[in-house]
Order: sequence, then structure tokens, then C-alpha cells
Amino acid sequence: MTHQTHFRTCNICEAMCGLIITHDETQVISIKPNPDDPLSRGHICPKAVALQDFRSDPDRVTKPLLKVDGVFTEISWDEAFDIAASRLRAVQEAHGRDAVGVYLGNPNAHKFGNLLNLPALMKALGSSNRYSSATADQIPHHVASIHMLGHPMLMPIPDVDRTDFMLILGGNPLVSNGSMMTAPGFGRRMDEIKARGGKVVVIDPRRTETAEKASAHYFIQPEADAVLLLAMIREVFAAGLDRLGPLEGHVEGVDTLRDAVQPFTLDMAAATTGIDANDIRRLAHDFASSPSAVCYARMGASTQSFGGLCQWASYALNLITGNFDSEGGAMFTTPAFDYVGMTSRKGRARTYPERRSRVSGQPLYNGEFPVSVMAEEMETPGDGQIKALLTVAGNPVLTAPNGRRIEAALDDLDFMISVDIHINDTTRHADMILPGTVALEEAVYDMVFHSFAVRNTATYARPVFDPPEGVMQEWELIARLTARLTGANQIGPSPEQVLNAMLPAGYHPDVTVEAMLDAGTAFDLGPLVPNLTERLETHDGQIQLAPQVFLDDLPRLMTHADSRDAQYPFAMIGRRQVRSHNSWTQNSQRLVKGRNRCTVEINFEDAKKLGISDGDDVQISSHVGVVTLPAEITSAMAQGVVSIPQGWGQSGKTMQVAAAGRTVSINDLTDDKRIDPVSGNAAFNGVPVQIELAS
Ligand code: SF4
Repeated sequence: MTHQTHFRTCNICEAMCGLIITHDETQVISIKPNPDDPLSRGHICPKAVALQDFRSDPDRVTKPLLKVDGVFTEISWDEAFDIAASRLRAVQEAHGRDAVGVYLGNPNAHKFGNLLNLPALMKALGSSNRYSSATADQIPHHVASIHMLGHPMLMPIPDVDRTDFMLILGGNPLVSNGSMMTAPGFGRRMDEIKARGGKVVVIDPRRTETAEKASAHYFIQPEADAVLLLAMIREVFAAGLDRLGPLEGHVEGVDTLRDAVQPFTLDMAAATTGIDANDIRRLAHDFASSPSAVCYARMGASTQSFGGLCQWASYALNLITGNFDSEGGAMFTTPAFDYVGMTSRKGRARTYPERRSRVSGQPLYNGEFPVSVMAEEMETPGDGQIKALLTVAGNPVLTAPNGRRIEAALDDLDFMISVDIHINDTTRHADMILPGTVALEEAVYDMVFHSFAVRNTATYARPVFDPPEGVMQEWELIARLTARLTGANQIGPSPEQVLNAMLPAGYHPDVTVEAMLDAGTAFDLGPLVPNLTERLETHDGQIQLAPQVFLDDLPRLMTHADSRDAQYPFAMIGRRQVRSHNSWTQNSQRLVKGRNRCTVEINFEDAKKLGISDGDDVQISSHVGVVTLPAEITSAMAQGVVSIPQGWGQSGKTMQVAAAGRTVSINDLTDDKRIDPVSGNAAFNGVPVQIELAS
């Protein structure tokens, strides 16, 4: 057997780590970090080595399956496409186009073939009932970009490699390697900030792995981030430290912002956040006085009741301190595939939100309704009720708030079809499962995440292995289903051909598929460069510092009473773990072995009061559910706050992890009624819960 060497970026999370894979015709020999990758510089995490496990997963679905009398039975692809197209169309003929809902999971963002082919499938279905993991994650960032900069993908990225001061709220990039900020090897990047005399300050209700390594960490009460940021902005103005720097003349609304933040005094912020007023003042002064600084507000600041306000305030703090579109601040990528340019909205008048959901009137952005309303849209009769569902690489029963409500609604659908690699908590309710591919069987070009990276690079790689017999490329599956729905007798060109045709319109026209293949390792396209003013897509070409949609939400923040009550006196937050990624990696024994990591973290003072010891089984209850987990007693949690990791809880009949037991889904507790009304994002953090020793 001959050994071959394959260069690619890891295509399962945002970090895009460079890999060197040695393999023969059938199997992986080794997966190692690529020290020459200009972005990841030799970093990988344990999930990279597990890429081989996803391919050989014994529980993997490798044939189209149709449920017959409650049992999944293998059928041919031809039968599968015929049945899928005819059942979806039958539902639409009986109930209208919107009766078919679509849910797209996070892996689609990493599969450029899916991204290129899904729009045609959406058009063929013609339904407005579209959902994705974006509204359980990052839609507040897009909403801030829409209202302030005019395009949802015009996304400010921390210039980590040159900043002198990084303020992190709600993010744990040492574990995630960045999110909405592709920054692989973040630990080394933190070391470099400190080595050049800079600081990293973390604000979080949990002393995260990032906080442990930071220059300073402040505990904050969940959902108080926006108050802290607005108080810092107020202090920057009050101290006369505001400056727009190179964006002077390109910003509207400075006076409006100054007026709007007046109620957010240091004392008010101290009372709300739990951070001393003097510390807030010093933080504001240090940030504004630093040669360069960047505020990065991420997961905990996005997936909460004030996610929209948090992102607006984070952008605004960077803007008014001269740290927007400038070195060491929040900057904008110039990738080889220019997503913003390809989807430019310049000259097209739009109103936002684009629509409101049928049942509870939640906002639609980027053509998607919030996943929080998916259950009610399936349950509630009337025009537009979802009667059939297509999921692609998604498991909303585990990843959406109040997942068990979604699960119950799935059983009442007329038809459900899933594209997936597993029979899991969601797909086991499907009438049909079409097998998907895994990372090493896919070509990789990160159309999305090059746009979010802290350095401009470009990598393209073909699949390492063919999919197993009976599995086709997901892009082809999507294209063939689309053709069956439209009656077309052939599918379009391959994603590689389409990508190659699109690249010349990007910022680096020399970057072609062939050139990237020849280079092997990633092209280094250089550090981020100032470019915002020529790319703004607002109605007047100005940055909008104080959009009305956020100003209108400030009274809600001012009057926000902590929603915890005597019955549910604790606030629950999630936590990211290095050995898991969303809901689908836990079937790798390599990643789940060792101690049980699905625990509830509790502050030691709280545990003492409740008589809970380390390892005790603890019952956690919320407005929507009850679960039991082992306790992990720690000083790393703020008092009154508990943490459960996300992504666990597989109860699918065939998943190995189910046999391990004692893992539960955090989304058996999260509440689909808790939502950020501005962006529609689910509020996973700050969920009121009660904890007690399990009997
Ligand atoms: S951090 Fe993400 S991209 Fe890097 S190796 Fe791990 S899973 Fe892959």
C-alpha cells in the first residue's frame, strides 16, 4: 500500500486548522498539525484526530432509509428521490408552499457544495418556513451588521495578532479557537498579546479556560453584558476619550448614542453586573487609552435575551474609541471568495426585519425565522402551518431551546425527511433519512469562515476518500432532489467548477482552485487591512452608530428585572468543551472516553448551602423540564450561576454514547419563550433554574 500526504484545513469547526494527513487507499495513517499553515501555525485540537472516527463510525447511516411500519428499511436512491419529491409536493398541494419547513444545521456552513446548491433547493420548494442553527448562535452579529453597516456578512473581526488590549465577553476562544473570529491556536495568540505588553481581559459568569489564562477576569451576572458595555461607552464619552480616528466623517449618530447611554451610570452598571463601579471605570479608561483595543462579545453575549443590544454595544465601543477598521481593532477581511461582494445589497432598498413569524411575530432576518418558533409553527393550525419538514445536517431536538417540544411536534408531521449521518434524537422521527458525508469525504474551501478569519488565507482541498458505497456527495444529493422537484433532467456543474468561476470576483483574483491545489498548504494573503468605507452598504453610505431598532430596545434593558424567582433562583449558562462540537461528535469514543464531562458546575458556596458534594446527582429543573446530572463543585462559577455543557443527550437508539448514560441535553431545560426580540436569537444563557440533591 502506498502512503500519500494530503494537506487541507479541518472542516468541522470555524478555526480552519491546517492539517497534514497521511493515508493509504482505505485508511488514515496519521493526522498531524501543519506548522506551515499561515493561519493555524501548527495548532490542532483533539477533534482533528477524530476526523477518521466520523468516517468509520459504526452507527453511520450509509444507505437511504425509509420508515416502513416504524422500522427503517433500505431503499434505492431512485426510490428515495421519487418518494421525497412526491411526498413534499403532495403536502404543498394540500396545504400551500409554506407547509414544508426546512432546518439547516451548522455543518452546512462548512460544506461549500451545500452552500452553493441549497439556494436552488430553497427556490424549488418556495417555502418561507426556513430555519437554521444561526438563530441559536450568531444572528445578533448579523443584525448589528445589517443595521450599522448595511450587510449581514460585513462582520468586524478582532485583529488579534496586532491588538494591545482584547476585551472578551461571553466567549471562550481558548476552547473554541474563535467563533465569528477564526483564530486557531488562540492560546498562543493570547501569549503573543501579553508578550508585546498587551492585555486580555475576560468578562464571564464562569472563569473559563480563556479567563484562567487572561490578564484579568471579572465575574458578571448572566445577561448583564449590554449594561456593562453601555456604561463603558458612557464613561468613554464622559472622560472625553471618544475618537473616531480614520472613520471621522463616515459615522452618523454619535450624539444620539451619547444621549442614549446616559441612564447607564457606573453605579447602575455595578448593581446590575456585579462588577465594582471603579473596575468598570478603569476598564473603560484602559480600553480607550490603549494604543489599540478590541471588544469581542461572543456566545454568551449573543445567545441571551439582549443579544442584539450586546453586539450593537460591542461594535459601538470599538467605533467610538477609534478601534474600528484600524490595526489592532475590529477589522474586515478581504477574502479570495468575497461573500459580501457576491451578495451585495447596494442600491436595493430593504426593510428590516424582513418579516414576522406567523404565530408569535418574531423577526425574520437573512430569510430565516428564529428556530425558537419552529415548534409553535408546527403545532399551530392555519395557513402556513408546517406539515412536512426537511432537515439537513441538523439536530434541533438537541440544539434548539426546549428541544423536547420540537421532538413532540415532529411526530405530528405528515412527512419528514432528513439528510444526516446518524439516526439521532431528531432524525429518528423522520420518515426518510438520506445518508450524508463526513469531513474527509468532502472537498473543502471555507466560503464562510475565510470571511471571519483574523488573517486572510485561502485553502482548497479535494476529498481524502470517496464516500462509502451507497453514499453520494451531499451537494449532489441536494442537486438531485432539487432536479426531482423541478422536473429537470440533469444537475448543474460541480461545486469546484462553480467556486473556480466565482473566485476571480474576489479580492485575490490570482487565487484559483488549481493554484490552491498546487500550493498544497494555505495561501497567505496577508494581515487584515482597512477597507470598510468603500464597502458600506447602508442607505447613505455612512456607519450608523445609533440605529433606531437598538435605541427602541433600551427601555427593555433598563427595566429588565432578573427573571429568576423563588422557584428558580439560579441562572443556567452553557459551556463549550474542547472534545465536543455541537451535537454530533460525541459518537467518537476517542472524544468521549475518560471522566464524564456532562456535569453541572456549581459554585462551592452554593453547593455548601444546599448540601451538595462533588459527584452527587443533582436535579436541575426549569420552567420547561427536569434533568439529573452529577455535580462538579468549583470556584470557577459565579455564585447563583450553574453551567451545563451543550451537545450531549443522545437518546437515539443506536448511538454509542447513549450506552454511557448520565448525559442529558441542556435543551431539555432551555425555554423557547426566552428569546432576544430584536434579533430572534434563542436566549440559552441566564435560564432560571432550581437545583437540589436528587433523591
Ligand atoms: S480547532 Fe476546529 S478546525 Fe482546528 S482541529 Fe479542532 S475542530 Fe478542527
